[in-house]
Amino acid sequence: MKKTALFPGSFDPFTKGHHDIVTRGMTLFDEIIIGIGTNLNKKRFFPIEVMEKLIAGSFAGNDRIRVISYDSLTAKIAREMGARYILRGLRNTTDFEYENAISQVNRYVYEEIETVFLITSPHLAPISSSIVRDLYRYGQNVDEFLPYRLPEELAVQ
Ligand code: ADP
Repeated sequence: MKKTALFPGSFDPFTKGHHDIVTRGMTLFDEIIIGIGTNLNKKRFFPIEVMEKLIAGSFAGNDRIRVISYDSLTAKIAREMGARYILRGLRNTTDFEYENAISQVNRYVYEEIETVFLITSPHLAPISSSIVRDLYRYGQNVDEFLPYRLPEELAVQ
């Protein structure tokens, strides 16, 4: 049976840390769906349509990776997409505390779902979307943290 995983996140923006988790996840799964969760309570910095295209572009030519955006419960979307696995990355114990809680909730919503965690590659551990956002907001070049080039004049709000 085909093994499909959903890799959910805000991806605001999608970083080399995220890219690494997907690339390594490809050795475990037949297909990975990268799901950008749209949370109405959380105002995004990088527009979702732009991020969707940039992420897809960073995996161009790989037909085992798809990018979607969704506004629903992650576990519900996983079930609808035929994904029995949720893929997540762990950088530190703070991530673990949070991931532990949400993986329990996801199993409450969809009993058969299994969350698979990959430990960050050490050189990518310091990268977080919020730090990249802060650097970018104040005019710092962030290319080295991203697996694609940001379009000029994007989303400085
Ligand atoms: P969320 O808003 O759901 O926490 P993020 O977009 O911040 O989503 O992150 C998505 C997933 O990627 C999370 O599991 C997070 O722990 C993981 N992640 C984020 N940055 C890194 C990194 N540098 N290395 C490995 N995993 C990471």
